[in-house]
Formats: sequence, C-alpha cells, structure tokens
Amino acid sequence: WDAVLGQMKESGLYDDVIYTTYIQPSKLFRISGDVALISVPNNISSSIISGNLEQWSRCFAQATGSDHTLQIILNKDVEKLMPSTVLKKQTDSLFEDRFNKLYTFDNFVVGKSNREAYAAAIACCNYPGQFNNPLMIYGNSGLGKTHLLHAIGNYLKENQPEARVIYIYSEDIVTLLIEAMKSKNVPGNSVEDIKARFMECDFLLIDDIQRMKQSASQEIFFNLYNKLIAENKQIIITSDIHPSELKGIENRLISRFLSGLKVRVGSPEFETAKAILKKKIEGRNETIMIEDEVLDFIATKFSSDVRKLEGSLNELFFKAILENPGIIDLKFAQSVFSDEPIPVVEDDLSIGKIKSCVCEYYGLTKNQIESKSRTKQISNARHIAVYICRKHLQVPFVKIGLSFGNRDHSTIMSSYEKAKKMIKQDPLFKTAVEQIETKLGIR
Ligand code: ADP
Ligand code: MG
Repeated sequence: WDAVLGQMKESGLYDDVIYTTYIQPSKLFRISGDVALISVPNNISSSIISGNLEQWSRCFAQATGSDHTLQIILNKDVEKLMPSTVLKKQTDSLFEDRFNKLYTFDNFVVGKSNREAYAAAIACCNYPGQFNNPLMIYGNSGLGKTHLLHAIGNYLKENQPEARVIYIYSEDIVTLLIEAMKSKNVPGNSVEDIKARFMECDFLLIDDIQRMKQSASQEIFFNLYNKLIAENKQIIITSDIHPSELKGIENRLISRFLSGLKVRVGSPEFETAKAILKKKIEGRNETIMIEDEVLDFIATKFSSDVRKLEGSLNELFFKAILENPGIIDLKFAQSVFSDEPIPVVEDDLSIGKIKSCVCEYYGLTKNQIESKSRTKQISNARHIAVYICRKHLQVPFVKIGLSFGNRDHSTIMSSYEKAKKMIKQDPLFKTAVEQIETKLGIR
C-alpha cells in the first residue's frame, strides 16, 4: 500500500495538504478474493479516493501484479468486520436480560394442550439440573414455546436474581463457535474462552433447536453440552418438531437431547383458545367492546396456532379503528375475515330448521328433542341435530345449548363428539345423518 500511496503522490493529482490530510491515513485493510478493502478515516477521504478510483486501481494492479476491485470503507465500519470484535460483543451480551416482559408464567394460559410443558418449565426453575435435564419443549410453531422460555427468564430474574441465565437461538450458538474457531489466536476469543463463558451459566435456554445446522462446530457444542449437563446446569430446549426428527444434528447429540424430559405443546382446545384471547385483550387496554360471540368465532377458527389467534385480534382491532363499528360483533368479525374461508352460514339454514327436520325424520316433537329424555331414539336424534348445527352453521356450542333446553356447553360438545363417533361406528346412524342432510339440501 505504501508503494501505491507513493505513486499516487507522484502523480500530482493531489495537492500536498490534501494528500497528507486525506490520503496518507488510508490503509489496505484486507484482500479477500479479488476485492481489496481500503480503509479511510472519513467520508471526505472516501470521496476523494473514489473520484479517481480508476487510477488507484491501475496503481494497485502494478504494485500487486494482479487485478483487484478496490472498495473503500470507513475506519468505523472496519471494526464491524473483525470477527474478534463481533465475538467479543456477542459473548459479553450472553447474559443480558433479553426477556420480553409480557411473556410471563402469569400471562400464559394453561390448558390441557400445554399443562405439562408449563409445569415442567416451572419445575426446572425450582429444581434446576435435578431431574428434567435437558427439558425439551416441542410442538408446532406458534404454540407458546418461546413464551415459556421467556417466562422462565422473567421468573428467575424475580425469584432467583443471582441465577445466571443465557437465552440463545440455536443458530447463534453455531455462529459463535464458528467465529471462535476462526479467531483462536485472539486473546479471550478462543473456543475454550467461549466455552468457559457458557459454563458460567446456571440455565441455558436454547430456542428453536431445529434451526441448528450441521457444521464443524457441532463437535465443540457436543463437548460443551456434555460438560454443562455434567455440572448440573439446567438446559431447556425448544423445537418445532419432535426431537427424533431433527435434521442436520448428529445422532449422538439427538440421543443426548432425548435423554431428558420431552414435553409437547399442542393446539389449544376451544376453552383455552378463548381464555388466551381474553388474556390478550386484557393486556391491550382497548376502548372498543368486543362481543363474546366474536371470541367464540375466532377461537374456533384460528385455534390451531396461537400466533394466528393473536394476529386475528390485531386485525380486528385495527379494522375497528378504521371503520369504527361501535362494537365488534359477529357480523363485523365475519366481514373482517371474509377473505379467509369463513364458515358457510346458509341463509335459510338455522338451528330451528335443523331441529324440525330431525324431529320430522324421527317422528318426534320439538319438546321431546329438547327434553331431558335419554331414550335411545330421542338422544340419537338430539346428537344428530347438534352435530349438524355445529358442522354446517359453525355456531358456538353455547349457542346450540340454548336451543336445546338450555343445556350447557360441555353437554353439547359431548353430544357432538358422540355423533362423530357413531357416524364412524354405526352405519345406520350414519345413513340417518346423511338422509337428514339431504333433506336439508346441504349434502
Ligand atoms: P412458538 O415459540 O411455539 O412458535 P410463541 O411462544 O412465539 O410460539 O407464541 C406465539 C404467540 O402466542 C406469543 O405471542 C405468545 O404469547 C402467544 N401464546 C402462545 N401460547 C400461549 C398461552 N398458552 N397463553 C398466552 N399466550 C400464548
Ligand atoms: Mg418460538
């Protein structure tokens, strides 16, 4: 670079003062491939050199004997390109509190689908490294796994402030270790140094392990992992897929993961989905009212993914701000989600009509089908009517219950489930359902 500078000075392109102030301080930072990075102190230097880049390139080619594309970067950006400084910053921040304050155990709605994961997460905090190591929480995306990891972080901060907690994405561990391998000669940045930083933790929370890719760093990770477990550091891992199906991760590592406790989070059942909606609404301080029926509607429609469930609320409130409907009722909600495949509500099909049709089919009166009678014929008729209402009108069980002698939600739900089961098991029952549907014009 000195030779290049010398030549450019000779060229007479630059005034002496300009040369000493803006050109001389430039440095050849790095050559990678056919790009030569030239670092300069400031923007003025950068524009002066860039103004004659062709001459600079020619000079550079003469000095080095090969062609390179010159790229000018500012000194302040050079730091960002140095693996050692990146690494230092990253490891320094390993123990920082990165937890979302809204993701707490208190804000986590517990139901059948996630009870086990919730209980195991709390147990890990209170009995770290004792029996659930590692704890592996797995289940489809959007079902609260990250929420639980953050809840652990927040809980520990409050109840065991001295605990050292690392929360990290699996791919960031890989990046860290690879950087460490590259900078083995930089003091404080070797693989051993990074491992030592990890060993300082009491809890290691690894999110989305399915994103960990095969790389040379897995060997190091394997060692680190074993060391952490041996020293009873509590490890909690989440995965979008069952651990045995993890791809790109060595088998011996997978079998280590499998040796702890695995708990699955599933899609929330209706009641849990609804409770989650209520919780999220509570946290929002919205002034506009939302009818309970709307919650039934979105809880039924989006419950396979809590993220979507939440997203649907955002969408509703957002549209409500735009359109100001006064109150968010079922009709408004249906219009908001009209581009989604919404449940078909046939105009002339109603609970009343379905009920009459079933009564006619079985020769019963309306009072009989609504009564508490449990004779086989009457209860079968009732199961079918409930089933058809639910299937074709997609109205909440609560609402169906009101039309069937004020029965409660769970009775109606079990009636519906019973019908579904009988359709599979009893051909006569199945035929009855089909004939009634045909009569109603919905088959
Ligand atoms: P995952 O990590 O499983 O993909 P997240 O933890 O990111 O899912 O959850 C997605 C969203 O759903 C978050 O806003 C989270 O708060 C919310 N959520 C999921 N399950 C629950 C629950 N049981 N109670 C309250 N909120 C939940
Ligand atoms: Mg997640």
